[in-house]
Amino acid sequence: MTALASTRAELEPFLDGFANGKRGVVMTMGALHEGHLELLRQARHDCDLVVVTVFVNPLQFGPNEDFDRYPRTLDDDLKLCAEAGVDVVFAPSVGEVYPGGPPIVQISPGAMGEVLEGEFRPGFFTGVLTVVNKLLHLTRPDVAFFGQKDAQQLALVRRMVLDLNMPVEIVGVPTVRDADGLAKSSRNRYLSPEERTIALALSRALSAGRDEAAAGHGAAAVRHAAVSVLSAAAADGALTVDYLALVDPQDFSDVPAAFTGDAVLAVAARVGTTRLIDNLPITLTSGAS
Ligand code: AMP
Repeated sequence: MTALASTRAELEPFLDGFANGKRGVVMTMGALHEGHLELLRQARHDCDLVVVTVFVNPLQFGPNEDFDRYPRTLDDDLKLCAEAGVDVVFAPSVGEVYPGGPPIVQISPGAMGEVLEGEFRPGFFTGVLTVVNKLLHLTRPDVAFFGQKDAQQLALVRRMVLDLNMPVEIVGVPTVRDADGLAKSSRNRYLSPEERTIALALSRALSAGRDEAAAGHGAAAVRHAAVSVLSAAAADGALTVDYLALVDPQDFSDVPAAFTGDAVLAVAARVGTTRLIDNLPITLTSGAS
């Protein structure tokens, strides 16, 4: 039986009941899919109490983004959480999370929050880190689980926890994909069948880059291979690329041409009115192009 808590007062007894156990939280915006379920499975495996938060955070949406039309499917989410053995779903109102109205004090992500997603979504990571911080206070977990699908977010959350001495362990969970490669996302349901086919260019571009690295080529060749796939898709005008970048996972700065070691190949593109992101971890063994 999965309990539903809408307020902090309703949630507290569950947290207090597991004061000596390991408490885990999975933070989501709802519209749950297989990607979220993988986080739930990991949390259920690792923790005594599993709390899932469902909250569409207004602070991380820009004025022209999809806050109003973002899918809200709480009844379905509750069923999936029950099947996954989740103990409590915490689905607070905006007023519960922001009791003082829009927050005056917010968390600054620094330079890592200004690039890639941060460049195309100004204020996005301030909104994300602020709400993650709030939800950590509200749910008091020992462990919090985040998807590598949102690699820059995961890196920034890790950095926030380190820089602000926050007493929580952060666990990253690999990206779950459809069989044809498309990364699972709540926003995939916006796509028409034709748009979904076009959207496959993102994962194909990343795979092309990874294959170059696996063949022993360097950063320039990896970027070139990925850009070629995207350019072909964009030539039809059906896809608009926001960025394709090969970055250092520590700070999300572009890796230099001679870089060797672990990197992240990240992409964001718009298909119709839907904005999609994806990324792959890449290991560069050769500094040659
Ligand atoms: P969201 O509801 O989109 O804010 O996502 C909630 C959490 O689920 C975040 O930590 C995401 O990174 C993670 N997540 C979303 N999609 C996937 C996926 N396809 N694979 C793994 N984790 C995911």
